Amino acid sequence: MDIITDPKAMQRHAGQVRDSGRIIGLVPTMGYLHEGHLSLIRRARELSGCVVVSIFVNPTQFGPGEDLASYPRDFANDCAISERAGVDVIFSPRETDLYPEGYQTFIQLDKLPLHLCGRSRPVHFRGVATVVAKLFNIVKPHLAVFGRKDYQQLMVIRRMVRDLDFDIRILGEPTVRESDGLAMSSRNAYLAPDQRESALSLHGSLEAARRMIQGGETSAARLIAAAVQRITAHPQASVDYIAVADPETLEDVEAVSGPVLMALAVKIGKTRLIDNMVLEP
Ligand code: AMP
Repeated sequence: MDIITDPKAMQRHAGQVRDSGRIIGLVPTMGYLHEGHLSLIRRARELSGCVVVSIFVNPTQFGPGEDLASYPRDFANDCAISERAGVDVIFSPRETDLYPEGYQTFIQLDKLPLHLCGRSRPVHFRGVATVVAKLFNIVKPHLAVFGRKDYQQLMVIRRMVRDLDFDIRILGEPTVRESDGLAMSSRNAYLAPDQRESALSLHGSLEAARRMIQGGETSAARLIAAAVQRITAHPQASVDYIAVADPETLEDVEAVSGPVLMALAVKIGKTRLIDNMVLEP
């Protein structure tokens, strides 16, 4: 497995891999790898001759007061995990490699960031779209694999790829969960045992909404109210948002008549967690 930090060296390597006729599959991550990341890596492995995992805690997608400085990192363990999973290249640039002095170009989508996480994280998706576009230009992948755990991010990337004519196939993989339903996340490392218990209410409220819809409930307001009640029963939990939305536009829906995205962000203590499910009547 090669470890490359210099973007120019990565571009040269990617050019050689492409010239040799191999498919490049990219899995962008912020590191602290877990089974969720591994499922994306396995998918990329199935479809590509060269799997590149990028590890970069991207400062432009963090707002002031967010957890950029404390974001969990363990590069040596990420390398060991990646090597075992058959990754060909780890691309881990330094901050100043991607955002040198004088940097001033950003990608901003008009509508998708107005919903869900974008409301409380106004610069987040501008940072995500920008860094992913840069990774695409550096790693030159034929395909890139993302998790549906970050549903809005996946939609932003798909939209950007269509709008800017990137010749890259985007795959979205299902959310990998712990055996008790908690969606895997690097940020779960922040949770104390009692907080982890409270965090189960995210998945629990999505499952409860699924049962309500199967039982004939169509009111988004009642689905949201039930989820708020279940989550706020935990004293350390505070709801950022709970939304029932159109799975494509992410706009709020009032009545469930077809597939809907139920998405939520909840702070457990200081840790902000997200989860979502597409629910069908
Ligand atoms: P992150 O390192 O958290 O930025 O995530 C990197 C990629 O892994 C993103 O495409 C995420 O959606 C994906 N991912 C994170 N957690 C999970 C999970 N539990 N299941 C599936 N994919 C995930």
